[in-house]
Amino acid sequence: MSNSSTAAAPPKSGDFFDVSSLLDEDEVAIQEAVSRWVDDRVTPIIADAFEEERFPRELIPELAEMGLLGCNIEGYGCAGLNHVCYGIVCQELERGDAGIRSFVSVQGSLCMYPIYAYGSEDQKEQWLPRMAAGEVIGCFGLTETDGGSDPGAMKTTATRDGDDWILNGSKAWITNGTVADIAIVWAMTDDGIRGFIVEKEMAGFTARDIEHKFSLRASITSELFFDNVRVPNTNLLPNVKGLRGPLGCLTQARYGIAWGVIGSAQACFDEVLEYSKVRILFDRPLSHTQTVQRRLADMSRRITLAQLLALQLGRLKDQGNMHHSQVSMAKWNNVRTAIDIARDARDLLGASGISVEFCPIRHMLNLESVITYEGTETIHELVVGRELTGANAF
Ligand SMILES: Cc1cc2nc3c(=O)[nH]c(=O)nc-3n(C[C@H](O)[C@H](O)[C@H](O)COP(=O)(O)OP(=O)(O)OC[C@H]3O[C@@H](n4cnc5c(N)ncnc54)[C@H](O)[C@@H]3O)c2cc1C
Repeated sequence: MSNSSTAAAPPKSGDFFDVSSLLDEDEVAIQEAVSRWVDDRVTPIIADAFEEERFPRELIPELAEMGLLGCNIEGYGCAGLNHVCYGIVCQELERGDAGIRSFVSVQGSLCMYPIYAYGSEDQKEQWLPRMAAGEVIGCFGLTETDGGSDPGAMKTTATRDGDDWILNGSKAWITNGTVADIAIVWAMTDDGIRGFIVEKEMAGFTARDIEHKFSLRASITSELFFDNVRVPNTNLLPNVKGLRGPLGCLTQARYGIAWGVIGSAQACFDEVLEYSKVRILFDRPLSHTQTVQRRLADMSRRITLAQLLALQLGRLKDQGNMHHSQVSMAKWNNVRTAIDIARDARDLLGASGISVEFCPIRHMLNLESVITYEGTETIHELVVGRELTGANAF
């Protein structure tokens, strides 16, 4: 039986534990601004873009104008927002589509961040302001066809030749690859793995789109090829060596994913909740049946847990106390939450659920990439297991 004796306002369906009340003024303001922009600019076009397998490039200047590219970087023309704000940006963008969030994640966390964290002062001044303004687009080349989960086995090499490096090899499954002006490329050298800023015009560097994807169709995914590409030593990221470099970037991006997928889950939940109220079966709305209510209640419970996990992760990051294994647990938990909710929402829509006119199938298919990229679910479970036991089981 319900208990209605308290004076508290009823919880909001999309934010059952009033997590927004834990946000400060700036965080609320950014949430409202990005949410409005997504409703105005992404929602009306995204189903068509997904169907046409088209990344809506025309949105890049607007993302830049709102200060969302590299928004949690200090200086160099970046907005310098806190990490919770960055998380909220990811959440709201992914409520629109994971493809838009992926673009912003790659630009900020995987390209601007390595330049900011590992680059020389000249490199930061040369690239970061133009990347924040959306004038220079970046991509991040780590994965190779021979195995993304084991990046240390990479075959791409960089060999020193006077003042230059000669790059040979290829990268696969690279977001933004063919729209990028620069690629952060990780290659094996005599001194271990090093990062390079490879510019689109450099001779021997080519990119090609991977087509026929059934996931993240509103995002560009490419292959990169390096055939004796001559890269000046001034384009080497001087301040990092070894796997620590790319893994440090991935921690930033995975942090954003842990937030972003909440947006996918919320979009699916909101749509299916409304649908269940108007879909009449057996002379009553679907929402009036016990099983459907249990499923909706369970979605709301899982979204709430994901919200609280992401927020605490963000607060730890803002305090400088976030550990990468906590990011792994959050990415694992929140993506699993979102993909299960998207699949359940798709089912609750019945046949209509297979149409792109309803958002769950699009989010569900996108999440098949999100659960794989930036460390698969298994890899994140193994990271947490290693942290708990001290034994590396990879
Ligand atoms: C749409 C999309 C965009 C992407 N964007 C980028 C990008 O911008 N830059 C980039 O560098 N990469 C990118 N990736 C690549 C992505 O990061 C890799 O696909 C991911 O790391 C997994 O690597 P893999 O595909 O080679 O799978 P594999 O490593 O071959 O894994 C296959 C399976 O084996 C499991 N597995 C692996 N190791 C173990 C183990 N030790 N024990 C048990 N199970 C294990 C995995 O969990 C998985 O289920 C993208 C991928 C996609 C789909």
